[in-house]
Amino acid sequence: MSDLYPLGLRVGDRLVVVVGGGPVATRRTRGLLDAGARVRVVAPDVTDDLVALAVADAVEHVARAYAPGDLDGAWLVHAATGDPDVDAAVAADAESSRTFCVVASDAELATAWVPAVARLDDVVMSVHAGRDPRRATRLRDAVAASLEAGELPLRRVRPAGTSSADAVRPGRVALVGGGPAAPGLVTARGRRLLASADVVVVDRLGPRGLLATLADDVEVIDVGKTAGNHPVPQERINELLVEHALAGRDVVRLKGGDPYVFGRGGEEVAACRAAGIEVEVVPGVTSAISVPAAVGIPVTHRQVAAGFSVLTAHEAVDDVPGGPGHTLVLLMGVTRLAVTAEALVAAGRPPSTPVAVVEDGYGPRQRATFGTLGDIAARAEAAGVRPPAVTVVGDVVRLAPGWAAHEAGGGPVSKV
Ligand code: SAH
Repeated sequence: MSDLYPLGLRVGDRLVVVVGGGPVATRRTRGLLDAGARVRVVAPDVTDDLVALAVADAVEHVARAYAPGDLDGAWLVHAATGDPDVDAAVAADAESSRTFCVVASDAELATAWVPAVARLDDVVMSVHAGRDPRRATRLRDAVAASLEAGELPLRRVRPAGTSSADAVRPGRVALVGGGPAAPGLVTARGRRLLASADVVVVDRLGPRGLLATLADDVEVIDVGKTAGNHPVPQERINELLVEHALAGRDVVRLKGGDPYVFGRGGEEVAACRAAGIEVEVVPGVTSAISVPAAVGIPVTHRQVAAGFSVLTAHEAVDDVPGGPGHTLVLLMGVTRLAVTAEALVAAGRPPSTPVAVVEDGYGPRQRATFGTLGDIAARAEAAGVRPPAVTVVGDVVRLAPGWAAHEAGGGPVSKV
């Protein structure tokens, strides 16, 4: 219908009359109360929920059949009695008192329609769909999912010089775990925060492909190491997060993998808290588990490995849990592979223990180099292994599809 004029109503502390006491009337009443309306419910019988609201004095309950006069003082009326004649009578009375009226049973009688609504923070999206509520609901669900996933441009746009309360609230910081590199491996929450960020602070690792989805005026600060350039020191990164948030900007600190796995996330959170900045940590898919998975290695497997440890190759590796049933996942330090492998053998692991070094998991250079503690350093050197790479030590490595080819004398296995 083309005579629909979409509108938002301020119903706070204004009287709305709901005629009817069933589930539809109950749902409408709850929605109206959430928006701060004063609600009068007219119905001889009402649901337990409405009884409870009346007992708590949250609504006025007129416990009898509808009678003319019940709409007095109303700004808006909902007719939801389930009886078309009563609904029609309510609609007629509302019409003569020039009050808009929603009619649940008959959209043609109505002078107002309730949209299906998707809400996220202060964004409200209303859907009317040719007075077909189910169609509207389905569309609303799709919109809500896109909102939730961060696929819509949620970012607040503040015109220069605004002085509204909204513009001066301090910004928030979110540490978002970006996963190993593939854009599909970031969480829906992470995408959503990214979509509403004013500033994004990124590292060298992580799903940099997501940056292409940002609006042109989003400030991207690259604190990662680039060739010939030193990375921005951690202290300075902490300061950047705080400075931008204090200036009222919403900041996403996009990190590779999970923020709390060798990501110095704890320090960034502490810096924000110390400055009184609201900070949220969104977990991510850590490379410690996902990069082995990218080449078919499960870090645990029934009857092969009952546990795993994640450590950096820079730590002392001789006092971590041993035994063939325990997987070791080493991050960073591929250049120290020889030292690490020797230390593990010295600590009692057999030189025949299988090892895989997985470079650039999910990236274009993804490649797995297989070997044993005894020979992996030489093989990695021969293959020219480069960071970033994850090293997996333990019998689970045999489960990789590439292992058989390795045993048959093949070289490193690239992504197909
Ligand atoms: N917070 C991150 C780890 C940061 S330490 C996480 O949870 O994944 C950086 C190390 O992670 C790298 O040196 C490398 O060992 C590993 N890494 C991260 N992304 C990787 C990738 N795509 N492929 C291989 N290794 C990766």
